[in-house]
Amino acid sequence: MQDLTHFIDGKHVKGTSGRFADVYNPATGEVQSRVPLASKAELDAAVASAAAAQTAWAATNPQRRARVLMKFVDLLHRDMDKLAEALSREHGKTLPDAKGDVIRGLEVAEFCIGAPHLLKGEFTDGAGPGIDMFSMRQPLGVAAGITPFNFPAMIPMWKFCPAIACGNAFILKPSERDPSVPLMLAELMQEAGLPDGVLQVVNGDKEVVDAILDNETVAAVGFVGSTPIAEYIYGRGCSNGKRVQCFGGAKNHMIIMPDADMDQAADALIGAGFGAAGERCMAISVAVPVGEETADRLIEKLTPRVEALKIGPFTAGDDVDFGPLVTADAKRRVLGLVDKGVEEGAKLVVDGRGFSMQGYEEGFFVGACLFDNVTRDMEIYKQEIFGPVLSTVRANTYEEALGLAMDHEYGNGTAIFTRDGDTARDFANRINIGMVGVNVPIPVPLAYHTFGGWKKSAFGDLNQHGPDAFRFYTRTKTVTARWPSGTKEGAEFSIPTMG
Ligand code: NAD
Repeated sequence: MQDLTHFIDGKHVKGTSGRFADVYNPATGEVQSRVPLASKAELDAAVASAAAAQTAWAATNPQRRARVLMKFVDLLHRDMDKLAEALSREHGKTLPDAKGDVIRGLEVAEFCIGAPHLLKGEFTDGAGPGIDMFSMRQPLGVAAGITPFNFPAMIPMWKFCPAIACGNAFILKPSERDPSVPLMLAELMQEAGLPDGVLQVVNGDKEVVDAILDNETVAAVGFVGSTPIAEYIYGRGCSNGKRVQCFGGAKNHMIIMPDADMDQAADALIGAGFGAAGERCMAISVAVPVGEETADRLIEKLTPRVEALKIGPFTAGDDVDFGPLVTADAKRRVLGLVDKGVEEGAKLVVDGRGFSMQGYEEGFFVGACLFDNVTRDMEIYKQEIFGPVLSTVRANTYEEALGLAMDHEYGNGTAIFTRDGDTARDFANRINIGMVGVNVPIPVPLAYHTFGGWKKSAFGDLNQHGPDAFRFYTRTKTVTARWPSGTKEGAEFSIPTMG
């Protein structure tokens, strides 16, 4: 069994805390490696050397910094198969989906190649007599990212690419469930020309997260994960004076109007509900058909499709729709919630609880489950299940369906399927959710737009990637400059105005 490392100052470094966590192959259920869990002392040392490296990095011109990302993009393409394999081996998702995970991160790296343009400040020539005014966007220093297990390539890249392009050093604390790909990404950044120390990967659990939140040098923290931890990190980070953005859990509703193309809606629900075994923050977990007839038609179309879903290990190739859950705990939790839904009176139309994968009996597989007649008071409706479970809540009217999505505490993504432009437009305008799809089930914005939910799905005021990331990872300095002769003569006692 292999012991993984941290990546500090351009080198793989063994953990010294003596604490480790097991990393599983979810398809077989076997422990395949151990990841070191860093102590506060290890984190503090990594931050100190990141701070030392940051000064020269910030002084490197933005075009040169961008060139590192250009090269990084090439290296990601070169190593795509290797990255996807390592990702699937620890996460469990299929290989094509693992490549998607890498590519959605790579696209943010591509966007960040525009750093020289994105970092251009503002300038007013002649703001007053002989006075120029300009604003610069300067890096914060050392920023940190704490990332979840479900996108071990994409989300680390969403964090470190813009932070580093802006001239910061970055401490990445990836999920302890699948830390290998983040370590590989750090190696590739180094191969691309990033100076040692500018990107440090420090593995660990709550102990190292708390050390990040309490470290005085860390100026900003970006978090992605579950809502209770997001809230905790936001509170502790902000009260320690840091700039913090935290993205949390989700319960994404898809509304199906009576005029929707029902085959298209059913296909969309299958991909969005069960892709990556439902372990996506933008997965659709609630289908809301409007009208009894729509609901009956939808369930009729969904049932055989859900029953036909192919589940298996990533090694089985393209013939698999989704793989196992990430850990035995995740499997237990999802099965427990399905039991709870049955107890609460929801109708389990397709029951995947008994699924067992031949030859992989110890793997963390759960079969696809489809619920009908779910109601808003049930636990399976209130909680994020994060598994291959789609709940159907029947609504009588469009207003009821809209109200359901609006009243839910989460507000990450949502979608409406309809042929009526007026309904779609009304929905997009009124809904209190950050990302909206119109006949698109998973409306994840592309790299040059920004990603972020509302309500309990996000804490902080700027989104991830796109132009917001360049705002989050820089601070503005505004200079008012006057160069005429005679500035030294006479003092000004009243505040200058433009009147
Ligand atoms: P998680 O909250 O368990 O872990 C996320 C990170 O926080 C990990 O790095 C973990 O080590 C750390 N952590 C865990 N417990 C901690 C604690 N008590 N104190 C301090 N740090 C702690 O989340 P997860 O299970 O890895 O990921 C799944 C969750 O992430 C889901 O809720 C999903 O919706 C959410 N998610 C949200 C987005 C988004 O952009 N909104 C994207 C992806 C995933």
